[in-house]
Amino acid sequence: AVEGDATEIRKLDDRTVQRIAAGEVVERPASAVKELVENSLDADASRIEVAVERGGVESIRVRDDGVGMSEADVRAAVQEHTTSKIEDVDDLESGVATLGFRGEALHTIGAVSRTEITTKPRSADDAGTKLTYVGGEVESVEPAGCPEGTTVEVTELFFNTPARKKYLKTEATEFAHVNRVVTQYALANPDVAVSLEHDGREVFATTGQGDLQSTLLAVYGKDVAASMIGVDAAPEVGSEFPEGPLEGISGYVSHPETTRSSREYVSTFVNGRYVRSPAVREAILEAYGGQLASDRYPFVVLFLEVPAETVDVNVHPRKMEIRWGDEAGVRRQVRAAVEDALLDHGLVRSSAPRG
Ligand code: ADP
Ligand code: MG
Repeated sequence: AVEGDATEIRKLDDRTVQRIAAGEVVERPASAVKELVENSLDADASRIEVAVERGGVESIRVRDDGVGMSEADVRAAVQEHTTSKIEDVDDLESGVATLGFRGEALHTIGAVSRTEITTKPRSADDAGTKLTYVGGEVESVEPAGCPEGTTVEVTELFFNTPARKKYLKTEATEFAHVNRVVTQYALANPDVAVSLEHDGREVFATTGQGDLQSTLLAVYGKDVAASMIGVDAAPEVGSEFPEGPLEGISGYVSHPETTRSSREYVSTFVNGRYVRSPAVREAILEAYGGQLASDRYPFVVLFLEVPAETVDVNVHPRKMEIRWGDEAGVRRQVRAAVEDALLDHGLVRSSAPRG
């Protein structure tokens, strides 16, 4: 609190700055899970096992069979702004292929928790390394027997940021966020075996065999998977598919009677990344032509392909939003693709003109 009548402007000390920044990156267990799963994907993992306890508030463990890290790598990885993914601003401008590049996730998660990283590079003969990082300080580094790949275990999340801890919701709500994040990455990466465990119980496990249909089965169960209708549209010469920014639309949408009251089962991906787009969601719902009961949403997993230069990459990646150049064009294309898929199954009558 400020005393007296003059306002005094002062510079915050480094620790305070670090904790404030950390609170923006890691808002809740699900944000840590997201960063760790992205790191595993960037590390070329073919298997990612996520296990959380008490909604992730008690502990989060992400294990992968990716490229792993040497002792020097893992010591560097927890420092501030350290990344192996870009070198300089030129790399940023030519486009980043990895999910991460800011070099802040491990450092930041470790600043507000007790984080243990056990890792071993692929085809390394000697032992791996276990590094323990607590509240932003390296506590210990020791050799560890472990398989190739990386395991990150986060406990005591927000032990030193009581304000952030206070804002956590119930364990059930926190777990719902974790589940949604892991589900999104599982759906976006059918060629990676992704599993999720909560309090020792398996929630789902995908096979990683590469097909979306079996991933849907693993994630949403038999009934939902059986009701899914394939969408596959691309503008071709002479086709009636409307012109617009999208080069391809593929995935699945559910039968209009297989719905939920939450829109969280409408998942859309742009060039492989999960994106929240109200415009796309509305276009999908319009395609059902009034066949959905009010306040009901279908299950949707839709992949939109766009030339990289037509989307605004400056929108913050963490917000998962997108700015379309030609939003009306995107809407027309999405609506047409979903309508065509439903029509093929005799599910909507072609009625109102598109536009
Ligand atoms: P960023 O992902 O933006 O590079 P992070 O703080 O998330 O930053 O990770 C820092 C670095 O640590 C990464 O660039 C990568 O080299 C290494 N790293 C992190 N997680 C893993 C992992 N699961 N497997 C292999 N290397 C990893
Ligand atoms: Mg990262």
